[in-house]
Amino acid sequence: RRQLKAVRTAGLGFEAMANDLASAYHAADAGNRAKSQFMATMGHEIRTPLNAILGTAELLQLSDIPDDVRDNVQTIRSSGEALLEVLNEILDYSKIEYGKLEIETRAVNLAELSRSVMDIMASRAKERGNALVLDLPDELQRPWIKSDPTRLRQIILNLVSNATKFTSNGTVTLRLREFSGPNGRQFLRIEVQDTGIGIDEEGRKKLFKPFSQVDASISRRFGGTGLGLTISKEIAERLGGRMGVDSEIGKGSTFWLEMRVDATEAPEMPSPSERP
Ligand code: ADP
Repeated sequence: RRQLKAVRTAGLGFEAMANDLASAYHAADAGNRAKSQFMATMGHEIRTPLNAILGTAELLQLSDIPDDVRDNVQTIRSSGEALLEVLNEILDYSKIEYGKLEIETRAVNLAELSRSVMDIMASRAKERGNALVLDLPDELQRPWIKSDPTRLRQIILNLVSNATKFTSNGTVTLRLREFSGPNGRQFLRIEVQDTGIGIDEEGRKKLFKPFSQVDASISRRFGGTGLGLTISKEIAERLGGRMGVDSEIGKGSTFWLEMRVDATEAPEMPSPSERP
């Protein structure tokens, strides 16, 4: 009961803050700098109570509680996680708008990254009756490439999440291929193919524009901000790549990302004696 009260208090504080912030945002409309500063503050101020809600709910689930209460706590958790996702999208979009989206290039293990996305999406895919397939050729099992692992993961997660959302009782495939460009440089093609509802030509034209959803009635049913693909495309370009879609109504869609890759060495692990 005490933990539930903590969740509730954090939730109420969060609501009040969101209202204050919305008024502040309108007030700050005059200058872009104020807006950008506002977004950073908002991110912090919303994330903190939200993490308290999520953390407390998680703790509560570990304690000995009846099944119906457990289900309710799960609802608190899933709603909190959805809220965090929306918050992160809005913040990323604002960073793009103000040219503050950072890219941090490091060694990335593509195979590991792809598998982790598949793991995260497994339960949601199952709920929608979808099979998740990872198609990764042998030559991409081992090597490390230079890129931004967090951002690359964000793009793939967005594409697989969309594919799962707009497909039911079908298949979602994450496919990775390497190919050589005209000057001998190596390129990587990442494809997320689904057997879902598909997108017509008009829809394909506006997909990557901010806040746009192809079919408002469908999207209302599925939720979403209409920012995911805008952010993904922007990141893809910042990573030196390009992104597009091929689709047919009723058959499904293939979202693809192509980028130049430079191979690199695996990051050096500290020797056991150096580890804390
Ligand atoms: P969100 O999903 O948050 O609304 P996105 O930018 O990720 O925003 O997607 C924009 C729109 O593109 C979606 O609302 C949907 O209409 C359409 N869309 C995206 N992925 C797919 C897909 N795999 N199949 C069909 N429609 C899609």
